[in-house]
Amino acid sequence: MYTKFQQFLQKELTDIENAGLFKKERIIVSPQGGKIALQNGKKVLNFCANNYLGLANNPKLIAAAKEALDSHGYGMASVRFICGTSDLHKKLEEKIAEFFGMEDTILYAACFDANGGVFEPLLSEEDAIISDALNHASIIDGVRLCKAVRYRYANADMADLEKQLQAAQAQRFRLIVTDGVFSMDGNVAPLDKIMELAEKYDCMVMIDESHSAGVVGKTGRGVTELYNKRGQVEIITGTLGKAFGGAIGGFTTGKKEIIDLLRQRSRPYLFSNSIPPLVAAAGIKMVEIMSETNELQDKLHSNTLYFTERMIQAGFDIKPTQSAICAVMLYDAKLSQDMAAKLQEEGIYVTGFYYPVVPKGQARIRVQISAAHNVEDLDACIEAFTKVGKELGVING
Ligand SMILES: *Cc1c(COP(=O)(O)O)cnc(C)c1O
Repeated sequence: MYTKFQQFLQKELTDIENAGLFKKERIIVSPQGGKIALQNGKKVLNFCANNYLGLANNPKLIAAAKEALDSHGYGMASVRFICGTSDLHKKLEEKIAEFFGMEDTILYAACFDANGGVFEPLLSEEDAIISDALNHASIIDGVRLCKAVRYRYANADMADLEKQLQAAQAQRFRLIVTDGVFSMDGNVAPLDKIMELAEKYDCMVMIDESHSAGVVGKTGRGVTELYNKRGQVEIITGTLGKAFGGAIGGFTTGKKEIIDLLRQRSRPYLFSNSIPPLVAAAGIKMVEIMSETNELQDKLHSNTLYFTERMIQAGFDIKPTQSAICAVMLYDAKLSQDMAAKLQEEGIYVTGFYYPVVPKGQARIRVQISAAHNVEDLDACIEAFTKVGKELGVING
């Protein structure tokens, strides 16, 4: 059997390669950070990590993790409900709920699991899920696992959302679900208008704050802070793998009864191991750091403003952003790859995105700003973009 299957796989792989869609992994040999070392010996400035607050290599998080390694050991060797719950898990759940102004939190191995396990236990065929067309793959998969009737609206399009809500009036319970920040453009979901419509059409709201937690809002509390809606949505999901330390782990935080039921019925929670205590300890430290001072959030905001203003001055076409994601529009797929390659030669580590990750003719380089960058790093990045941009005719030289 395998010989035939092998030939089939080889053809699939060749097709991917021929379409120019083969994803290669570049190997990093240093900790994640503003500056990283590659296996080929090169040091580069990293502008494509989700390490928004620079916490991935923060000494306080590392110390907290090491301490927990000594006090709580390496692994739990259990799911939460058998014997996988430590005091650190409970404390982190409390801290995350406080951070978002919610009632309780349930941890998962990843936000992919949080989204995969949130819909099916809560909603059934009598209910409706109204989902933004650009929502993350894990939300799409989670919705697929649930029997609720599905409605989809065009990205952040409130007229379309209203139309879908009208159609969904036939169902018993309704839930709008949206990413907080859409990762390819960096735009924020219009939560104020979403909540107005939710009120008008008797609907609940869930927001995935993976790219917005730690980033959006004056103190980094996310999109609910930006729109002054803290504690007002029913469900928030998020990750510990981006701004929140960058390791691993996800969570759902929300109304008490929702979290209570998820602990009873959510399959990725019931049938998958609990996160290592050292990750929970570092997570607790992360929330403490963000609550004691606004230094990292402020630095990220000023870095993002500094970068986008100067890139626009240099002549680049930047998508309007309300996050730390800065899409430098090039429109042409090959150009985005050539430019990313040349930037890496200049010591700037970025990734070009093109169809099918973004719509046809919308190729771009996505720059992600971090509090780990200092002004010299940002200047070096802008300078490299300007040099390569002129060489490739993207901006006027
Ligand atoms: C990154 C991301 C996830 C997945 O998070 P993990 O914890 O890495 O599984 C889920 N949703 C959104 C919107 C994301 O950006």
